[in-house]
Amino acid sequence: MNKQSCNIAIVGGGTAGLALATELRRLGVEDVVVLEREPEAGGVPRHCGHYPFGVRELKRVLKGPDYARKLVQNAQAAGVDMRCDTTVTALHPKALLSVNTPEGGYELQAERVVLCTGVRESSRAQRFIGGQRPMGVLTTGALQSMVYLQHQRPFRKPVILGTELVSFSALMTCGHMGIKPQVILEENERVTVRQIMRPYPVLKRVPVRFNVRDIRILGGKTVEAVAYRDATGAEQVIEADGVIISGRFRPESALLHTSHLEVDAGSGGPSIDQYGRASDTSYFCTGNLLRPVETSSWCWHEAVATAARVVQDLAVPIGGGAGARLCSVDPDIRFVLPQRLVEADAPGAMGEMQLRLARPARGYLTAISGGRTLWGDFLESRPERRILAPLKPMLSVGGGQPVEMRIL
Ligand SMILES: Cc1cc2nc3c(=O)[nH]c(=O)nc-3n(C[C@H](O)[C@H](O)[C@H](O)COP(=O)(O)OP(=O)(O)OC[C@H]3O[C@@H](n4cnc5c(N)ncnc54)[C@H](O)[C@@H]3O)c2cc1C
Repeated sequence: MNKQSCNIAIVGGGTAGLALATELRRLGVEDVVVLEREPEAGGVPRHCGHYPFGVRELKRVLKGPDYARKLVQNAQAAGVDMRCDTTVTALHPKALLSVNTPEGGYELQAERVVLCTGVRESSRAQRFIGGQRPMGVLTTGALQSMVYLQHQRPFRKPVILGTELVSFSALMTCGHMGIKPQVILEENERVTVRQIMRPYPVLKRVPVRFNVRDIRILGGKTVEAVAYRDATGAEQVIEADGVIISGRFRPESALLHTSHLEVDAGSGGPSIDQYGRASDTSYFCTGNLLRPVETSSWCWHEAVATAARVVQDLAVPIGGGAGARLCSVDPDIRFVLPQRLVEADAPGAMGEMQLRLARPARGYLTAISGGRTLWGDFLESRPERRILAPLKPMLSVGGGQPVEMRIL
């Protein structure tokens, strides 16, 4: 098979991949290749035809597609080698990739690989939604791509499942095409988004129903109704011609599962150290692949910080013996990131760990190792919200010893 080489290969040309590639070139790396499976780079923002993207990182308020175009232009102007219609099909030890294109396959040997493959929403099957199998059931991503990229209106009066931020993004997308959602169904007792966004469905005159159970999709060829049990246990049926299944993001980790890299069961993404390196340290990881789910702005900044780490590692390999192993033994905590620390003092390491809850929780978030409390702070939060904790207190633990995160 044809074999090619480069300094840095980036898998995925979304927000993170493009920001990282541009920054690597700015920092003087010669040969930076972005491999993107879609015909155009830009990632998820390409089909988010609404504001606000780019506020912090580009100091402009843009719609998703304009933001994606700007990131592509920046990367091209910086001299990044952009390869679209190019899918990475396998990850091999020591930064070797199998790549597939319409013209045929090749192997790409890089000095370092950075994985930036993003997230996807959980499918109907992954959410255990029962009922029949009619046409007209879409994730927000699929809806946005139909509306903004193909200018199609898949339905007129759908039901939206979920109240994560992306559910409100689905609401905006519906407004763009004159689609009128009938209702938003939420399994929990409150909306998942932050307070500031709560009036949005009211403004759009879409009712939200809480404590919803046993959702079933009904219909023959196309969706005809959605049935569910309300808080009292009574069966409700809403007439609808479509269903938007929003949120419940998962890292796009298909490549990881068939590779030699360790996957973290909590986040569903790669297990990384504080420099963003996977279990094979020739692989770095950044953007939403690390965890479900962050905003574009967060992924952009994370990717720029990762670029500096990659450059540092190329100049003087970071190395480092095993430090603490960060883990959650608390069912309220869904994941902890990074999962491993190394005993290295190279500059640019992450200063904070990221956590997410599995359910609403209130208490004292605590880091414990060998019976010793290393750190603690009061916490009151809900699932899908960003929670940060300092990594510095955990650096005193070595030898792969566990640091357990608990809510007391
Ligand atoms: C439906 C949806 C709506 C969202 N709406 C918003 C929003 O309104 N505002 C916001 O700030 N954030 C939103 N997000 C979050 C969004 O993921 C981030 O904004 C941002 O796009 C993350 O950047 P990324 O580079 O990590 O991932 P992405 O932008 O998803 O980019 C990943 C790229 O990797 C490519 N790829 C994957 N596998 C391979 C492979 N094997 N080979 C080659 N290429 C591959 C994909 O094609 C994709 O282009 C949304 C996410 C989704 C899924």
